Amino acid sequence: MTFPKTLLAFQDQFPDEDACWQTLRRMRWPHGFRCPRCAHRKSYRLAERRLEQCQRCRYQASVTAGTLFHQTRVPLRVWFLAIFFVARHKQGISALQFQRDSGVGSYQTAWTMLHKLRSALRHRPADRLVGLVEADETFVGGHERGRRGGREVLHKSIVVAAVEQRPHSAGRVRLEVLERLRFEEDLGPFVCGVIDARRAIVRTDGYAGSIGLDAAGVRHDRRIQGSDRARSSEILPWVHTIFGNLKTRLRGTFHGVSGKHLQLYLDEFAYRFDRRWREGELFGFVLARAVRGRPLPYPRLTAELTG
Ligand SMILES: [Zn+2]
Repeated sequence: MTFPKTLLAFQDQFPDEDACWQTLRRMRWPHGFRCPRCAHRKSYRLAERRLEQCQRCRYQASVTAGTLFHQTRVPLRVWFLAIFFVARHKQGISALQFQRDSGVGSYQTAWTMLHKLRSALRHRPADRLVGLVEADETFVGGHERGRRGGREVLHKSIVVAAVEQRPHSAGRVRLEVLERLRFEEDLGPFVCGVIDARRAIVRTDGYAGSIGLDAAGVRHDRRIQGSDRARSSEILPWVHTIFGNLKTRLRGTFHGVSGKHLQLYLDEFAYRFDRRWREGELFGFVLARAVRGRPLPYPRLTAELTG
Protein backbone atom coordinates (compact mmCIF):
# COMPACT_ATOMS: atom_id res chain seq x y z
CA MET A 1 0.00 0.00 0.00
CA THR A 2 1.22 3.50 -0.72
CA PHE A 3 0.19 6.39 1.45
CA PRO A 4 -0.26 10.10 0.88
CA LYS A 5 2.55 12.60 1.28
CA THR A 6 0.51 15.76 0.82
CA LEU A 7 -2.81 16.97 2.18
CA LEU A 8 -4.32 16.94 -1.32
CA ALA A 9 -3.19 13.35 -1.83
CA PHE A 10 -4.67 12.52 1.56
CA GLN A 11 -8.03 13.92 0.49
CA ASP A 12 -7.89 11.97 -2.76
CA GLN A 13 -7.01 8.72 -1.08
CA PHE A 14 -9.35 9.05 1.89
CA PRO A 15 -12.30 11.07 0.64
CA ASP A 16 -14.79 9.40 2.98
CA GLU A 17 -15.35 6.92 5.78
CA ASP A 18 -15.60 4.02 3.35
CA ALA A 19 -12.07 4.56 1.99
CA CYS A 20 -10.64 4.49 5.50
CA TRP A 21 -12.69 1.40 6.27
CA GLN A 22 -11.34 -0.43 3.20
CA THR A 23 -7.78 0.42 4.17
CA LEU A 24 -8.30 -0.75 7.71
CA ARG A 25 -9.95 -3.91 6.44
CA ARG A 26 -7.00 -4.67 4.15
CA MET A 27 -4.60 -4.18 7.01
CA ARG A 28 -6.58 -6.34 9.40
CA TRP A 29 -7.25 -9.08 6.87
CA PRO A 30 -4.47 -8.86 4.29
CA HIS A 31 -5.63 -12.08 2.65
CA GLY A 32 -9.26 -11.02 2.64
CA PHE A 33 -12.00 -11.52 5.19
CA ARG A 34 -12.21 -14.97 6.70
CA CYS A 35 -14.92 -15.68 9.25
CA PRO A 36 -13.32 -16.61 12.58
CA ARG A 37 -16.19 -19.02 13.23
CA CYS A 38 -16.89 -20.80 9.94
CA ALA A 39 -13.99 -19.65 7.71
CA HIS A 40 -16.40 -18.31 5.09
CA ARG A 41 -14.86 -15.59 2.95
CA LYS A 42 -17.81 -13.32 2.21
CA SER A 43 -19.11 -10.64 4.51
CA TYR A 44 -21.42 -7.65 4.68
CA ARG A 45 -20.30 -4.40 6.11
CA LEU A 46 -22.30 -3.04 9.03
CA ALA A 47 -20.89 0.44 8.86
CA GLU A 48 -22.75 1.91 11.79
CA ARG A 49 -21.14 -0.49 14.19
CA ARG A 50 -17.85 -0.96 12.35
CA LEU A 51 -18.54 -4.65 11.94
CA GLU A 52 -18.17 -7.17 9.15
CA GLN A 53 -20.89 -9.80 9.25
CA CYS A 54 -20.26 -13.27 7.85
CA GLN A 55 -22.67 -13.97 4.99
CA ARG A 56 -23.04 -17.60 6.00
CA CYS A 57 -23.17 -17.82 9.81
CA ARG A 58 -23.78 -14.13 10.57
CA TYR A 59 -20.85 -13.91 12.91
CA GLN A 60 -19.92 -10.27 13.46
CA ALA A 61 -16.23 -9.38 13.43
CA SER A 62 -15.12 -5.94 14.46
CA VAL A 63 -12.80 -4.10 12.10
CA THR A 64 -11.48 -1.91 14.88
CA ALA A 65 -11.12 -4.46 17.70
CA GLY A 66 -7.56 -4.49 18.95
CA THR A 67 -6.74 -1.20 17.21
CA LEU A 68 -6.43 2.27 18.70
CA PHE A 69 -9.71 3.15 16.99
CA HIS A 70 -11.76 0.64 18.92
CA GLN A 71 -14.91 2.00 20.56
CA THR A 72 -14.20 5.53 19.54
CA ARG A 73 -17.02 7.72 18.27
CA VAL A 74 -14.68 9.76 16.17
CA PRO A 75 -14.98 8.99 12.44
CA LEU A 76 -12.13 6.93 11.03
CA ARG A 77 -11.40 9.71 8.57
CA VAL A 78 -10.65 12.10 11.42
CA TRP A 79 -8.36 9.49 12.95
CA PHE A 80 -6.57 9.10 9.64
CA LEU A 81 -6.22 12.88 9.46
CA ALA A 82 -4.67 12.88 12.94
CA ILE A 83 -2.20 10.25 11.75
CA PHE A 84 -1.45 12.33 8.69
CA PHE A 85 -0.68 15.36 10.84
CA VAL A 86 1.40 13.39 13.33
CA ALA A 87 3.36 11.95 10.42
CA ARG A 88 3.79 15.20 8.49
CA HIS A 89 4.36 17.83 11.14
CA LYS A 90 8.05 17.67 11.93
CA GLN A 91 7.63 19.70 15.06
CA GLY A 92 4.66 17.66 16.21
CA ILE A 93 1.12 19.00 16.38
CA SER A 94 -0.56 20.41 19.44
CA ALA A 95 -4.04 19.34 20.48
CA LEU A 96 -5.30 22.89 20.02
CA GLN A 97 -4.00 23.05 16.46
CA PHE A 98 -5.42 19.64 15.67
CA GLN A 99 -8.80 20.57 17.07
CA ARG A 100 -8.88 23.66 14.86
CA ASP A 101 -7.68 21.87 11.73
CA SER A 102 -9.89 18.80 12.07
CA GLY A 103 -12.98 20.37 13.55
CA VAL A 104 -13.37 17.72 16.25
CA GLY A 105 -15.85 18.82 18.85
CA SER A 106 -13.65 19.44 21.82
CA TYR A 107 -10.11 20.07 22.88
CA GLN A 108 -10.38 17.04 25.14
CA THR A 109 -11.17 14.76 22.20
CA ALA A 110 -8.29 16.15 20.15
CA TRP A 111 -5.93 15.77 23.09
CA THR A 112 -7.01 12.19 23.80
CA MET A 113 -6.62 11.15 20.17
CA LEU A 114 -3.10 12.53 19.92
CA HIS A 115 -2.13 10.92 23.20
CA LYS A 116 -3.45 7.56 22.06
CA LEU A 117 -1.41 7.83 18.90
CA ARG A 118 1.70 8.81 20.84
CA SER A 119 1.21 5.85 23.12
CA ALA A 120 1.56 3.56 20.08
CA LEU A 121 4.89 5.07 19.06
CA ARG A 122 7.05 3.84 21.88
CA HIS A 123 10.11 1.88 20.82
CA ARG A 124 9.96 -1.89 20.94
CA PRO A 125 11.83 -3.18 23.98
CA ALA A 126 13.63 -5.78 21.85
CA ASP A 127 15.02 -3.10 19.56
CA ARG A 128 18.33 -2.36 21.34
CA LEU A 129 21.03 0.23 20.69
CA VAL A 130 24.46 -0.94 19.56
CA GLY A 131 27.93 0.49 18.91
CA LEU A 132 29.09 3.66 20.60
CA VAL A 133 26.15 4.95 22.64
CA GLU A 134 26.18 8.41 24.22
CA ALA A 135 24.23 8.68 27.48
CA ASP A 136 23.47 11.79 29.49
CA GLU A 137 20.75 13.51 31.46
CA THR A 138 19.14 16.93 31.46
CA PHE A 139 16.39 18.89 33.13
CA VAL A 140 13.23 19.68 31.21
CA GLY A 141 10.53 22.15 32.22
CA GLY A 142 10.75 24.15 35.39
CA HIS A 143 12.27 27.14 33.67
CA GLU A 144 8.94 27.63 31.95
CA ARG A 145 7.48 28.81 35.20
CA GLY A 146 6.27 32.40 35.00
CA ARG A 147 7.06 32.71 31.29
CA ARG A 148 4.77 35.12 29.61
CA GLY A 149 2.10 33.09 27.87
CA GLY A 150 3.18 29.90 29.64
CA ARG A 151 0.08 27.95 30.47
CA GLU A 152 1.29 25.73 33.23
CA VAL A 153 3.50 25.91 36.20
CA LEU A 154 5.90 23.11 35.61
CA HIS A 155 8.27 21.23 37.76
CA LYS A 156 11.53 20.13 36.39
CA SER A 157 11.71 16.61 35.12
CA ILE A 158 14.87 14.66 34.61
CA VAL A 159 15.21 13.20 31.15
CA VAL A 160 17.91 10.71 30.20
CA ALA A 161 18.93 9.98 26.66
CA ALA A 162 20.91 7.26 24.99
CA VAL A 163 21.82 7.75 21.35
CA GLU A 164 23.99 5.84 18.93
CA GLN A 165 27.01 7.82 17.76
CA ARG A 166 27.77 6.81 14.20
CA PRO A 167 30.68 8.08 12.09
CA HIS A 168 28.88 11.00 10.46
CA SER A 169 25.49 11.10 12.11
CA ALA A 170 23.40 9.97 15.01
CA GLY A 171 21.69 6.59 14.96
CA ARG A 172 18.66 5.77 17.07
CA VAL A 173 17.71 7.49 20.29
CA ARG A 174 15.95 6.42 23.49
CA LEU A 175 14.54 8.94 25.94
CA GLU A 176 13.10 8.37 29.37
CA VAL A 177 11.74 10.46 32.23
CA LEU A 178 13.39 9.57 35.51
CA GLU A 179 12.04 9.89 39.01
CA ARG A 180 14.04 12.63 40.55
CA LEU A 181 14.69 11.02 43.89
CA ARG A 182 15.85 7.75 42.44
CA PHE A 183 18.05 9.30 39.83
CA GLU A 184 21.19 7.32 40.42
CA GLU A 185 19.40 4.03 40.66
CA ASP A 186 17.49 4.74 37.47
CA LEU A 187 20.24 5.71 35.07
CA GLY A 188 21.67 2.21 35.22
CA PRO A 189 18.40 0.36 34.62
CA PHE A 190 17.53 2.76 31.82
CA VAL A 191 20.83 2.27 29.99
CA CYS A 192 20.83 -1.49 30.56
CA GLY A 193 17.27 -1.63 29.29
CA VAL A 194 17.93 0.09 25.97
CA ILE A 195 21.35 -1.21 24.87
CA ASP A 196 22.53 -4.56 23.62
CA ALA A 197 25.27 -4.95 26.25
CA ARG A 198 27.34 -7.31 24.12
CA ARG A 199 27.44 -4.94 21.18
CA ALA A 200 27.49 -1.50 22.80
CA ILE A 201 29.97 0.77 24.53
CA VAL A 202 28.34 3.51 26.59
CA ARG A 203 30.03 6.90 26.73
CA THR A 204 29.15 9.34 29.51
CA ASP A 205 30.70 12.47 30.91
CA GLY A 206 32.13 12.50 34.40
CA TYR A 207 28.72 12.45 36.05
CA ALA A 208 29.04 10.42 39.23
CA GLY A 209 25.72 8.60 38.79
CA SER A 210 27.13 6.79 35.78
CA ILE A 211 29.73 4.93 37.81
CA GLY A 212 27.22 2.18 38.54
CA LEU A 213 27.28 1.24 34.87
CA ASP A 214 30.69 -0.38 35.26
CA ALA A 215 29.42 -2.43 38.16
CA ALA A 216 26.52 -3.54 35.98
CA GLY A 217 28.93 -5.00 33.46
CA VAL A 218 28.30 -2.34 30.82
CA ARG A 219 31.33 -1.44 28.74
CA HIS A 220 31.67 2.14 29.84
CA ASP A 221 33.76 4.97 28.44
CA ARG A 222 33.62 7.69 31.08
CA ARG A 223 35.10 11.02 29.99
CA ILE A 224 35.73 13.67 32.58
CA GLN A 225 34.98 17.05 31.04
CA GLY A 226 35.78 19.29 33.99
CA SER A 227 33.70 22.45 34.16
CA ASP A 228 33.89 23.17 30.46
CA ARG A 229 30.46 22.90 28.81
CA ALA A 230 31.95 23.06 25.32
CA ARG A 231 34.08 20.03 26.03
CA SER A 232 30.97 18.18 27.15
CA SER A 233 29.41 18.81 23.72
CA GLU A 234 32.54 17.43 22.14
CA ILE A 235 32.33 14.24 24.16
CA LEU A 236 28.60 13.78 23.71
CA PRO A 237 27.70 15.75 20.57
CA TRP A 238 24.48 13.99 19.59
CA VAL A 239 22.93 13.76 22.98
CA HIS A 240 23.38 17.53 23.40
CA THR A 241 21.92 18.23 19.97
CA ILE A 242 18.92 16.07 20.79
CA PHE A 243 18.35 17.74 24.15
CA GLY A 244 18.48 21.13 22.43
CA ASN A 245 15.96 20.10 19.78
CA LEU A 246 13.70 18.47 22.32
CA LYS A 247 13.57 21.55 24.53
CA THR A 248 12.86 23.79 21.56
CA ARG A 249 10.05 21.48 20.53
CA LEU A 250 8.48 21.32 23.96
CA ARG A 251 8.64 25.09 24.37
CA GLY A 252 7.51 25.90 20.86
CA THR A 253 4.76 23.60 19.66
CA PHE A 254 3.52 22.47 23.01
CA HIS A 255 4.20 25.49 25.25
CA GLY A 256 5.51 23.18 27.90
CA VAL A 257 4.31 19.72 28.80
CA SER A 258 3.39 18.57 32.25
CA GLY A 259 5.71 16.01 33.79
CA LYS A 260 2.93 13.47 33.93
CA HIS A 261 2.63 13.24 30.15
CA LEU A 262 6.19 14.03 29.21
CA GLN A 263 7.08 10.40 28.44
CA LEU A 264 4.54 10.27 25.62
CA TYR A 265 6.08 13.32 23.98
CA LEU A 266 9.54 11.82 24.37
CA ASP A 267 8.35 8.64 22.68
CA GLU A 268 6.93 10.59 19.75
CA PHE A 269 10.13 12.63 19.48
CA ALA A 270 12.31 9.50 19.50
CA TYR A 271 10.06 7.70 17.03
CA ARG A 272 10.32 10.56 14.57
CA PHE A 273 14.05 10.99 15.14
CA ASP A 274 14.74 7.33 14.40
CA ARG A 275 12.86 7.65 11.11
CA ARG A 276 14.03 11.10 10.09
CA TRP A 277 15.38 9.81 6.76
CA ARG A 278 12.08 8.13 5.92
CA GLU A 279 9.60 10.94 6.41
CA GLY A 280 7.68 10.06 3.27
CA GLU A 281 6.79 6.69 4.75
CA LEU A 282 5.73 7.90 8.17
CA PHE A 283 2.00 7.91 7.48
CA GLY A 284 2.05 4.19 6.73
CA PHE A 285 4.29 3.47 9.71
CA VAL A 286 2.12 5.36 12.19
CA LEU A 287 -1.07 3.89 10.74
CA ALA A 288 0.39 0.39 11.12
CA ARG A 289 1.22 1.10 14.75
CA ALA A 290 -2.32 2.37 15.33
CA VAL A 291 -3.82 -0.71 13.72
CA ARG A 292 -1.57 -2.99 15.70
CA GLY A 293 -3.34 -1.30 18.49
CA ARG A 294 -2.81 -1.74 22.12
CA PRO A 295 -0.16 0.65 23.27
CA LEU A 296 3.12 -1.14 23.72
CA PRO A 297 3.72 -2.08 27.33
CA TYR A 298 4.89 0.79 29.37
CA PRO A 299 7.15 -0.76 31.95
CA ARG A 300 9.56 1.12 34.01
CA LEU A 301 12.65 -0.26 32.39
CA THR A 302 13.51 -2.84 34.89
CA ALA A 303 16.64 -4.52 33.59
CA GLU A 304 18.69 -5.55 36.54
CA LEU A 305 21.86 -3.67 37.35
CA THR A 306 23.48 -7.02 37.82
CA GLY A 307 23.54 -7.20 34.00
ZN1 LIG B 1 -19.15 -17.39 9.47
